[in-house]
Amino acid sequence: MAFQLPDLPYAHDALEPYIDKRTMEIHHGKHHAGYTSKLNAAIEGTDAAGKDIVDILKNIDSYSTAIRNNGGGYYNHDLFWKVMAPNAGGNPSGDLADAINSSFDSFEKFKEEFQNSANTRFGSGWAWLCLQTDGSLKVCSTPNQDNPLMPGVGCGGQPILGVDVWEHAYYLHYQNRRPDYTKNFFNVVNWEQVARNFAAAK
Ligand code: MN
Repeated sequence: MAFQLPDLPYAHDALEPYIDKRTMEIHHGKHHAGYTSKLNAAIEGTDAAGKDIVDILKNIDSYSTAIRNNGGGYYNHDLFWKVMAPNAGGNPSGDLADAINSSFDSFEKFKEEFQNSANTRFGSGWAWLCLQTDGSLKVCSTPNQDNPLMPGVGCGGQPILGVDVWEHAYYLHYQNRRPDYTKNFFNVVNWEQVARNFAAAK
């Protein structure tokens, strides 16, 4: 069963003015679609065919560079669309808020660390919030389409929130102003979904 490009869970213009319609059209319809089809081509005839994407990523050192790059791209964007929503932003609540406060002292300090991690990633990559095996939360960034599910990559653990800092994610609207993009990202974070990711990872 080949991997399928997941539908966007909202309209292309739903995240405006923070993320523009044209960027979303190209990002989902071209970039994520490309990772999906190239992943399917790369796994064909290998023992990755038919496996769950998380299984593939957790054993990525057994596979080709094409599976690493496109498998990462497939998984990362699927998570990324879901952790954003229109009319979202604000603050997390409940157990997730408690865990953020306990790991970073405050939500404001978490945001500062997350944005700093995203803004200082040289070149293309992602910044993540990950649940660790000891129950704490950590922030890290990873290059290219890598993510912390891959052995020895970033802070490890289970990613529950991620932001894409490839230029294709922001350049049409923000040009070189990545910090403005990562700041505005917090206006569209779907904290209810991040809380579901956190609960599922525990
Ligand atoms: Mn992307």
